[in-house]
Amino acid sequence: MNAGLYIHIPFCLKKCPYCDFYSITDASFHPAFLNALSTEMRMVRGVELVFDTLYIGGGTPSVLSEKSIHRIVETARQYFKILPGAEITLEVNPGTVTLEKLKGCRRAGVNRINIGVQSFNSANLRFLGRIHSDRDADLAVKWAQSAGYKNIGLDLIYGIPDQTTASWLRDLQSAVEFGPQHLSCYMLNFEPGTPMDRDRKKGCFKPLSEGQVCDLFETTVKFLSDHGYVQYEISNFARRSIVGSGLKNDGCNRSRHNTKYWTFAPYIGLGPSAHSFIEPERFWNHADVGKYVQELDRGKLPRAEKESLSLDQLMTEAVYLGLRQTNGIIVDDFNEKFGVSFQGMFGEVITDLEEKRLMECSQDRCALTSKGMLYLDAIASIFI
Ligand code: SF4
Repeated sequence: MNAGLYIHIPFCLKKCPYCDFYSITDASFHPAFLNALSTEMRMVRGVELVFDTLYIGGGTPSVLSEKSIHRIVETARQYFKILPGAEITLEVNPGTVTLEKLKGCRRAGVNRINIGVQSFNSANLRFLGRIHSDRDADLAVKWAQSAGYKNIGLDLIYGIPDQTTASWLRDLQSAVEFGPQHLSCYMLNFEPGTPMDRDRKKGCFKPLSEGQVCDLFETTVKFLSDHGYVQYEISNFARRSIVGSGLKNDGCNRSRHNTKYWTFAPYIGLGPSAHSFIEPERFWNHADVGKYVQELDRGKLPRAEKESLSLDQLMTEAVYLGLRQTNGIIVDDFNEKFGVSFQGMFGEVITDLEEKRLMECSQDRCALTSKGMLYLDAIASIFI
């Protein structure tokens, strides 16, 4: 199975109050980080994997110049076996791009752009503490198209306080009017320890009720399906591709890289806080740019920890990851991998969920329905 290479760029211009990804705003670390990243790539190069994806995420990779992005892609190609035709994605923040930068990144080999639009509504963007305006979001998508990218993904967030179905539909409508190949629609989570979660606890705003958020999720699935987007994971939708004379969803607009995280494919993560997985091992780097640079300067890999997953842990993950995807759990694969009978282990639970229309099973697979996905965590915990 081909592997994925992830590179975490740990910089943002400003921290968004809801975000718990690791990043810092001190740009003076850029040169040292870039040197350390090259060193890390050189040290990890012996890994016996063949990669068909490279994902430059963060943080905000687009705070770096096109020259730096070029250097990262070139160094990755130098040290790792990256197949011709690999999907090379760059995450961009609308407040940090220009047409010229996007063109430069394309020349550097980037062939997929994922734009953190989050909303086309200025009040929502202000609430989320984003650095960009609705006009910046609009321009970023147009520039990505003008720069010649044929594979563009947009990220949107729903579940924002005061958001109504009508205003969320306007965001979805604005997004589909651009005809992007991919849409990720994430539910706003109040992650413990974030400034937004502290404000929520202080009563600074009133979050939507669970029922309202569920309605927005169902609205999303229905609207995007009506507009030619196929849901393939709880938050991810790929535009149906037109093959020959008819419509066909052949999956080519799915995020090849992110699919690796849901299907046990191996991946290597480089940069501060990045995680790697080569079954059954998972290891990750220090979430600290200073420490990351220091360790690499000393000739040490910046690994924070490593764990080896037991068969039980792998099975738990397989259930959880399978339930996130509309493809569901592929029963034969599951049985073969773990030497068990999925139906035998969970027959009663499955029947109960089917009766409640939360799950649909056929001979070869078991998947949550749209309604079931609303209760993903609760259902996963029954299996686990
Ligand atoms: S720009 Fe993205 S990574 Fe940076 S703080 Fe905001 S949400 Fe987090």
